[in-house]
Amino acid sequence: MNMETLEVQAFDVRTALKNHFGFEDFKHNQKEVIESILNKENTFVIMPTGGGKSLCYQLPALMLEGTALIISPLIALMKNQVDSIRGYSTSNNVAHFLNSSLNKTQMKEVKSDIVNGDTKMLFIAPETLTKEENLEFFRNTNISFVAVDEAHCISEWGHDFRPEYRKIRKMIDHISKDIPIIALTATATPKVKSDILKNLEMKNANVFISSFNRDNLFYEVRPKNNKPQVFKEMVQYIKSTGGQSGIIYVQARKTTEEIAKMLQVNGVNAAAYHAGMDSKSRSRVQDDFLMEELDVIVATIAFGMGIDKPDVRFVIHFDIPKSIENYYQETGRGGRDGINAKCIAFYSYKDILRLEKFLKDKPVAERELALQLMDEIIAYSETSACRRKFLLHYFGEEFNADDCECMCDNCKNPKELLEVSNEMTLALETVKTLNQNYGVKTIADFIAGINSKEIKEFNFNKNPLFAKGKDKDILFWHSLLRQAILQDFLYKEIEQYGLLKLGEKGKDFLKNSFKVEIPLNHDYTNVDGEGDVNTASGGGAALDDILLDMLKKLRKVEAKKHKLQPWVIFSEPSLQDMATWYPISMEDMVNISGVSQGKAQKYAQPFIELIKQYIDENNIERPDDFVVKQIADKSKNKVSIIQAIDRKIPLETIAENMNVSYNELLDELYMVVASGTKLNLDYYINDNIDEDVVEDIFDYYRDADSDSIDDAVNELSEDDIEEDEIKLIRIKFISELAN
Ligand SMILES: [Zn+2]
Repeated sequence: MNMETLEVQAFDVRTALKNHFGFEDFKHNQKEVIESILNKENTFVIMPTGGGKSLCYQLPALMLEGTALIISPLIALMKNQVDSIRGYSTSNNVAHFLNSSLNKTQMKEVKSDIVNGDTKMLFIAPETLTKEENLEFFRNTNISFVAVDEAHCISEWGHDFRPEYRKIRKMIDHISKDIPIIALTATATPKVKSDILKNLEMKNANVFISSFNRDNLFYEVRPKNNKPQVFKEMVQYIKSTGGQSGIIYVQARKTTEEIAKMLQVNGVNAAAYHAGMDSKSRSRVQDDFLMEELDVIVATIAFGMGIDKPDVRFVIHFDIPKSIENYYQETGRGGRDGINAKCIAFYSYKDILRLEKFLKDKPVAERELALQLMDEIIAYSETSACRRKFLLHYFGEEFNADDCECMCDNCKNPKELLEVSNEMTLALETVKTLNQNYGVKTIADFIAGINSKEIKEFNFNKNPLFAKGKDKDILFWHSLLRQAILQDFLYKEIEQYGLLKLGEKGKDFLKNSFKVEIPLNHDYTNVDGEGDVNTASGGGAALDDILLDMLKKLRKVEAKKHKLQPWVIFSEPSLQDMATWYPISMEDMVNISGVSQGKAQKYAQPFIELIKQYIDENNIERPDDFVVKQIADKSKNKVSIIQAIDRKIPLETIAENMNVSYNELLDELYMVVASGTKLNLDYYINDNIDEDVVEDIFDYYRDADSDSIDDAVNELSEDDIEEDEIKLIRIKFISELAN
């Protein structure tokens, strides 16, 4: 291919990006990946979470003839992805999913859209693809390529191995041997990578590995002294963010409940989430979080697979995770929109000891693997070097700490160092005296003079070196021994259950000691959450915070109306762009980052109205005055509801006639008014609710940040106002002020 054609193609790809997604530029190596797929070559992509992985197959799928098959492990995830693509496009047929959740008629519709050439992307579970009737169907269809998402599921070494994933190559061969494959994953060690290439028989694949650096994440590790201290710090920090979205990860289910309650009591809109909950409650919490009814989720590691909320502004680890991989993945859920997010981990060596205890009864191989992984996370937590450098080093990537730009605690506040030459000598002497035959715990107990069972058993308390370091506490000695390992004075003999041995450096040190320094922990007790979140898109113009706030509120209403998540309508960076550039026409709108032609047509009108009005009046006090004109109503009962209300029929009777509960009717009424229709319920309200109560609720919503029911209940329950009453008056409020 000569230069000229290359340039033409580059131009086309960029134009396509702008037309379909509204972005000006590609991230990382997206462009090269896309070109490889457009050339129908096998393509292997390792891109960290949040790096723009899905665009790599979505754009070529839209550009190429035929339908791309996207194999994806989770049914819940498919719906999300399809919604998101439809949000960008003018037609709903462009993306479909095919899985067991569809009935026969729906499957037929999907297939007829494919035959008609309307569908560019079909998401499918491997189990669905195996079915002979489906393979037969695809044999007679123009398939542009097959994308295998979450490809690490192929490898037994991947953490979510799925046996059906092993059969993908065979299924593709059944369709045609010439279909190019693109495999994508966010985590892959060399072993997993070779498993994927081998299993999918991806000959001559172009391999693209992106940097794992997430430069908008701020990494911080704080000491975890005791529960009350950590609770206080969490509340202070979360309060300082002013209602931003965040996730708190903990190890135990019980802790999720405890922390969620603690946060609620402190006025934070939080909920617990763990695998022990039934699936209905789980998806409710998940939905509430996506719909911004909930600000903070306290979760075990079970949370996250199906969640793609781009504006998570903080990820807190109340307990240190069991491996760097887990830590990287979980923190990776922050800041997917490219705007800064904070990752705070609370670390205590006691937690590690607790985790080690759980491993006691595990098979040796499993225990040793787990201990090795934990060693890395300890080293990460205790390091005084750049955290980003440490993380990237773990994933085999070289990184210069100067490029961190103070986006980690150690770069921002370099740690004070403590001279410990004498203490190091004592520790190494102890290891030597005890014949290099004991682990960290015994050595630390020995130096600190703790009469543990083992110490007594071996009569160590008679040894002249015993308790020589009792002026320092046990945690200091644990920490010193950790540092001795990190700095190669000692090493852990993995084959022998982690017994401490003297390394060459340690032996030299005992012969001829020199100055040794270890980092001291900062005193974090006065932290009041440095929640400074910068905006991603710099540029010359200034961001209008007041307008941004108004746009966000509008987005929430729109989201409800369309029954979509807010970010599917417009992303946070798009809103920021709007609040910077004040678009007041469709043409302006298309120039906003992340706003495609289709998206503008579908969703932009009310935003344009808002911005126009804002510019004209600059009246910042009455954001509830927007007239929302679009009507997209999905309530089947809408017409009969409106008719019944016109005839002033009591709500209980309407509910009975519709065969729903009173509460469900209120929800339905809410949907009707939220989609822009006025309802006059005064006939019912005047007969059933105290005038004062109506006024109280009305006043509450006039000032409230959101139309959240839970917030209102929290605020109003002291005045003995019931949830039903709030729901009813909220309908009146929206009907009168928003419609
Ligand atoms: Zn750093």
